[in-house]
Amino acid sequence: MNENILTIIAAAGLGERFGNETPKQYARVNGKTIIESAVKPFVDSKYVSEIIIAVSENDNHIKNQNFYNSNKIKYVVGGASRQESINNALNAADKDYEYVLTHDAARPNITEDDIVNLYKDIKKSKTSCSFLYTPVYDSLKEVSPKDVTKDKNKFYLVQTPQISKFSHLKSSIKRCIDENINCPDESFAIEYANLTLSKVKGSRSNIKVTEPEDLEILNNFLTRSGVGFDLHKYQAGDGITLGGYKIECDYKIIAHSDGDVLLHSIADSILGAAALGDIGIFFSDQDEKNKDLNSIEIIKYCLDQLNERDLEIYNIDTTVICEQPKIAPHREKILKELSNLLLIPVSRIGLKATTSEKIGIIGENKAIAVQSLVNLIEKK
Ligand code: ZN
Repeated sequence: MNENILTIIAAAGLGERFGNETPKQYARVNGKTIIESAVKPFVDSKYVSEIIIAVSENDNHIKNQNFYNSNKIKYVVGGASRQESINNALNAADKDYEYVLTHDAARPNITEDDIVNLYKDIKKSKTSCSFLYTPVYDSLKEVSPKDVTKDKNKFYLVQTPQISKFSHLKSSIKRCIDENINCPDESFAIEYANLTLSKVKGSRSNIKVTEPEDLEILNNFLTRSGVGFDLHKYQAGDGITLGGYKIECDYKIIAHSDGDVLLHSIADSILGAAALGDIGIFFSDQDEKNKDLNSIEIIKYCLDQLNERDLEIYNIDTTVICEQPKIAPHREKILKELSNLLLIPVSRIGLKATTSEKIGIIGENKAIAVQSLVNLIEKK
């Protein structure tokens, strides 16, 4: 395969709709700016040998980006319009390439697969430009002359990245500039020049960050999951504590701490999702100071760790595995305790119970186990 593709990133947009002074591509999500995420797949791609980023003349942010000193990248000053920015970048290329990828700095959710798929498509279809698209799923109305519903199947939405033949894009963009035609994207310039197009179905997650609320949508794509498991043996006693809620019964849990197997399992899932290890690292059962430890303290410690990393719990799902006690009569109360402790609504907590069909240590009612899964999101 040809490993010699130019990439142009259009980053000169002013982001007027963002309503603040920082252009939208420099907003941070999950510890990285939008443009850092948008550029990374091209920096990493073995098919891309040169990247040119078109930035505004007065851009003070670009030099603070994590890719700034990459030896693959150079910078040009963008023009007043997209076609002028692309034109400036094409003219600054090291050489005449065969293909050029173009992408928007405000689309952070692409992968190297998108790049490879476009490259394969333009090679196979032998067109002048191949671009990503998604079908229209919502109903579609035309604004003018009056609101009229259109057949959405006759339309699709166009995304970047796009890949074009370098020489064809260069001549097409020049024609748009000469004729003062506004180019929403490079496939339009190719289309306007009556050259051929092909398309590859993209993903709806490849959003273009335009409105401030788009950052929230991005946050929702960036969940981290963690699983947890804990098991404790029973002995004769007066009850067990699950999720900080005491259930009276004829046994108790054998443990160094208070033995809240549900909270231990949840704590492990939280620490796992945050890549911090397991509760044994932070609350060793060999340590005397953890004797009879209230497990609520463990959860509070985990939440502090999340806080420090700007993470929070989105939802939790748990399964309690035991023969006795029956969980159903206590379910609502345990959920309420968990909700108060984990600071998320009951609607985001799954609490299920099952038995072990009288088989094994749990089936013989000598132990109880809990399995958990948590999803973490970036704090708003
Ligand atoms: Zn435990």
